[in-house]
Amino acid sequence: MQLSTQLLHGGISEDPHTGATSIPIYMASTFHQQHIGESQWEYSRSGNPTRQAVEALVADIEGGTAGFAFASGSAAIATVFSMFNAGDHIVVGNDVYGGTFRLLDQVFKRLGLSFTAVDTRDLDAVTAAITPDTKAIYLETPTNPLLHVTDIAAIAELAHIHSLLSIIDNTFASPIVQQPLTLGVDIVLHSASKYLGGHSDVIVGVVAVKDAQLAGRIGFLQNAIGAILAPQESWLLQRGIKTLSLRMQAHQANTERLFHYLKQQPAVAKIYYPGDPDNPDYAVAKRQMHGFGAMLSFELQPGLEPQKFVENLHIITLAESLGALESLIEIPALMTHGAIPRPIRIQNGIQDELIRLSVGIEDIADLEDDLTAGFTAVTGR
Ligand SMILES: *Cc1c(COP(=O)(O)O)cnc(C)c1O
Repeated sequence: MQLSTQLLHGGISEDPHTGATSIPIYMASTFHQQHIGESQWEYSRSGNPTRQAVEALVADIEGGTAGFAFASGSAAIATVFSMFNAGDHIVVGNDVYGGTFRLLDQVFKRLGLSFTAVDTRDLDAVTAAITPDTKAIYLETPTNPLLHVTDIAAIAELAHIHSLLSIIDNTFASPIVQQPLTLGVDIVLHSASKYLGGHSDVIVGVVAVKDAQLAGRIGFLQNAIGAILAPQESWLLQRGIKTLSLRMQAHQANTERLFHYLKQQPAVAKIYYPGDPDNPDYAVAKRQMHGFGAMLSFELQPGLEPQKFVENLHIITLAESLGALESLIEIPALMTHGAIPRPIRIQNGIQDELIRLSVGIEDIADLEDDLTAGFTAVTGR
């Protein structure tokens, strides 16, 4: 079955009891057990039919055998990190999601985990960071907000050579663009609050794996910790996923167009987009991604005010988050990455003039007109 068909017919796509083509929302905390120990359903933290349907779907569309749905992307990530023990070490991408860094630095470090942050595009740096205590390599690709692309298959191979787990946060790409499990990665996870949900109406996290033993460990932790996705949200996620392929096509087509539009703008100093043939990561991106995703960042010329730019847009929404149907724009230095001390932020390549754009599915002419209004506001021309 092709991926775009799987979105509709994968997992558990219709109600086994009634044939309803939309899975019912089973608002039940517990289930009548006719005979002790023989029931499929016992208690909704451990398993709920609506959640199970979307979990099976997530497993299918990521090319896995088991899926898990959580109350948020952060809950999914925390549950995965809970697999490790005090004394374990993790090699982590140096520009992972701020909340992921915060979890490692302020929660799991306190519990005895240690980690080393490296640019995971540099395989020598990753290898050099591995210690006898290292248990996993954790990364994102493309990254936030500079859209750096790491060679997923190379990292998976490196991890296996050193008997480490490889874990990828696939939020920025979505399984339409890349399926890390099929490239050899052990665990893929998402903030499904972004592209998978797609409609800015739900906070969700998901995990998918191929290996049965890993599935057992994560299933145990999901139930033990209990940060599960509720039935209503499970239904919203399943409905959102049905249109993922169509949405990604529209998102990516608009992004490609805006890249070319931005290249023509004298007020733009630099563009960060994996689909830019001059981008150093272009070859890897072209090899492992289907399309180049729908995120791009750009820097205004030094001295031009990014705040004035974003505040003069009327269609593109000034907001954190990404992967929504609506175009969302933000200034990392003031918003998503504002907590990073300026010298470190600049050292990591995130300039004050950087603007991050999550390209939506609006008409391209309206998006270009809106950006033109922003450029007029900052240049006076
Ligand atoms: C948003 C995001 C998260 C956190 O997910 P929540 O659903 O907000 O908890 C994790 N990773 C990435 C890449 C994200 O963009």
